[in-house]
Amino acid sequence: MENKKIAVVTGALGGIGTAIVQQFVSDNYLVIAVASTRRNESDFDRWCSEYNINPSLVEPLFLDVTDAQACLNSIESVIESHGKIDVLVNNAGITRDSSFKKMNAQQWHEVIDTNLNSMFNMTQPLFAHMCGNKSGRIINISSVNGQKGQFGQANYAAAKAGMIGFSKSLAYEGARAGVTVNVVAPGYTETPMVAKMREDVLESIKAQVPMQRLATPLEVAKTVSFLASDGAAYITGETLALNGGLYMN
Ligand code: NDP
Repeated sequence: MENKKIAVVTGALGGIGTAIVQQFVSDNYLVIAVASTRRNESDFDRWCSEYNINPSLVEPLFLDVTDAQACLNSIESVIESHGKIDVLVNNAGITRDSSFKKMNAQQWHEVIDTNLNSMFNMTQPLFAHMCGNKSGRIINISSVNGQKGQFGQANYAAAKAGMIGFSKSLAYEGARAGVTVNVVAPGYTETPMVAKMREDVLESIKAQVPMQRLATPLEVAKTVSFLASDGAAYITGETLALNGGLYMN
């Protein structure tokens, strides 16, 4: 256990997060699964049994990623208990879709706080530690809609595009220490977030995707796993798009 690499994954109990946790477990990491404070130990136990996750290889951490002080305390306490953090995946996210004419300040701020400010909250207390260790991987989950924009998602696209600019900038700052900072930008993926969409909207999205289907959470997780792997040590400041050809940058 002591020699395992430590990966912290936010939004761990969500659709994509679950697949990332499963992938890291199979890659031999000890995973700190960050769940929102809406969850508790029994949710975590249920999730482990539902997804066949060995709870001795995954530790739950209940945390509101919009709370900067709580994130700082949590990162410090993980480093104190495990001596290090090798990988951080900023995956927690929400949507509050609305045409901009109807978008209110709450919809704007909730999305920016949860998708973008959370990345600052989690990464800032960890970055100096990774640089000091001369190793570390930061992987931020953006979206195709952060790359191309989307009607009704000015808030979400702003947050997701912000993750890309942030990652390129931080990549410069981490490069000498061998700390890489990259983005994974999935297209529409089969998760609860997408299951909330209207059937006809989803069908029209699939029809626009050259591959005519959604991504699977496993495909996103495999991309994250690659960026965390030794083979990706020279990739930094990059955005790996995973969208079935929907948007080619
Ligand atoms: P889910 O809704 O399944 O998961 C999102 C997770 O984020 C949830 O587990 C949720 O916790 C957590 N979360 C939300 N708010 C907070 C908070 N304040 N503090 C801590 N955790 C929080 O979505 P997906 O798995 O689909 O999405 C994962 C990421 O991938 C998101 O960043 C999303 O924007 C991005 N993405 C998704 C795509 C898709 O089509 N699904 C496409 C492109 C990008 P809880 O469950 O406890 O509420």
